[in-house]
Amino acid sequence: MTIDSDILTLCNGCGLCESVCSGVKMKCHEDGFYRPQAECVNSDETQLIQSVCPGMNVVSRKGGNHSIWGDVESVCNAWASDAEIRHSSSSGGVTTALAIYLLESGKVDAVLHVGTDDTCDYRSNHLCISRSREDVLKRNASRYAPALVLNQIKVILDSDASSYAFIGKPCDIAGMQNFVNAFPQYKGRIVCYLAIFCAGIPSFNATAQAITALGHDAPVTSVRYRGDGWPGYFTVTYSDGTTRRMSYNDSWGMILGKQLAFRCKICPDSIGLLADIASGDAWNTRNGYPDFTEDEGRNFCFVRTPKGEQLMREAIQAGYIDVEQLDISKVEQMQRYQYRRRKEAGWRIAAACFLSGFKVHFRGTGWLRNAMTINPLRGLRIMMGSAKRYIRRKRHLQAVK
Ligand SMILES: Cc1cc2nc3c(=O)[nH]c(=O)nc-3n(C[C@H](O)[C@H](O)[C@H](O)COP(=O)(O)OP(=O)(O)OC[C@H]3O[C@@H](n4cnc5c(N)ncnc54)[C@H](O)[C@@H]3O)c2cc1C
Ligand code: SF4
Ligand code: SF4
Repeated sequence: MTIDSDILTLCNGCGLCESVCSGVKMKCHEDGFYRPQAECVNSDETQLIQSVCPGMNVVSRKGGNHSIWGDVESVCNAWASDAEIRHSSSSGGVTTALAIYLLESGKVDAVLHVGTDDTCDYRSNHLCISRSREDVLKRNASRYAPALVLNQIKVILDSDASSYAFIGKPCDIAGMQNFVNAFPQYKGRIVCYLAIFCAGIPSFNATAQAITALGHDAPVTSVRYRGDGWPGYFTVTYSDGTTRRMSYNDSWGMILGKQLAFRCKICPDSIGLLADIASGDAWNTRNGYPDFTEDEGRNFCFVRTPKGEQLMREAIQAGYIDVEQLDISKVEQMQRYQYRRRKEAGWRIAAACFLSGFKVHFRGTGWLRNAMTINPLRGLRIMMGSAKRYIRRKRHLQAVK
């Protein structure tokens, strides 16, 4: 048996199935996304993949999610107190600063998060182990491209007894929690979950297109999607020492954001519902819309659990984070896209549920309740569009298998 085509249709390329099934290998395909490949998986393995795969399972084990933004203990604007961290990171560097605080205060032995290897290949995004401030800083800032987040997770956790903080996109956090739930021997090893907001993962082909658009013909030595300012520039450095850059508006708005994975379009959680703390961009607004003019970096943070609340309080007291109050009603303007998406996602998810034969389990994410807040006729149109895309995607994957 090969891998079920509904699993492939909903795959976000995390690699967890490779970690839990020895016959599965992740492969980067022509469309610029990772998907698993397997000559033969038995029915037990198919069941295991189906139960841990974050493409099909996003489960809030806390219960609740009473608002459009999920469970929120508190909300604030925040940034790293350290100017270097604040400047070099994606937004205000809160994620990096919290990770460094967790390390330096001895609350965790290491941080698991995405970085590249030391080659110049922008395709080498994978889960790295950071054990020092320098390690964490080296891997900060958003990479708008696929990453192998969980394909080595078993190997990593089996290699020693370290405790970890885990940083990831919301679906990475769902995958990690599904894994720990299925393999309770790892319970307690992940002490804290920090999520970054996520509008979707662009294909590697989008990065290639953005590099081509910069129009310089020399080998690329590094790609930085943003950071070094807020939002910072898509910046490419070449072997002849030249640097070319493109604004965030042009890179994300015109190229990267137009080539997102199918799974991202039906995402039930792009706002870190399952994390202890979830951070996004606290965009300035102009005429009610986000304004991407360069500024000093600033996150807004949803503190989602009592553990997250304690961590935030301690990191502030220890001088790692600066905060200012934020009224939760302001988040709608800062994050208009995510607000609309939260309301529409349920209709897209309903299409995927039916067409996959109810293999999709997005429990406790509030999708059904949020879907009811928009006009049902509009909802039905959205659902039909998603159904068409689902069928097209599944047929395509069956044809190229
Ligand atoms: C694909 C993608 C989509 C995004 N969409 C949104 C959005 O809709 N709204 C919004 O406000 N912000 C979005 N962001 C940006 C990000 O959520 C914010 O910048 C967030 O505020 C984190 O800022 P920070 O300064 O705290 O992060 P930093 O301190 O710079 O830390 C970022 C952390 O993210 C990890 N990371 C980087 N790339 C990846 C990746 N591809 N997969 C997993 N982990 C990664 C790094 O290892 C690092 O630990 C997106 C980022 C990505 C990668
Ligand atoms: S989402 Fe992850 S676990 Fe699911 S099929 Fe894709 S790579 Fe495997
Ligand atoms: S939009 Fe959702 S599925 Fe896509 S990468 Fe982000 S969190 Fe994962």
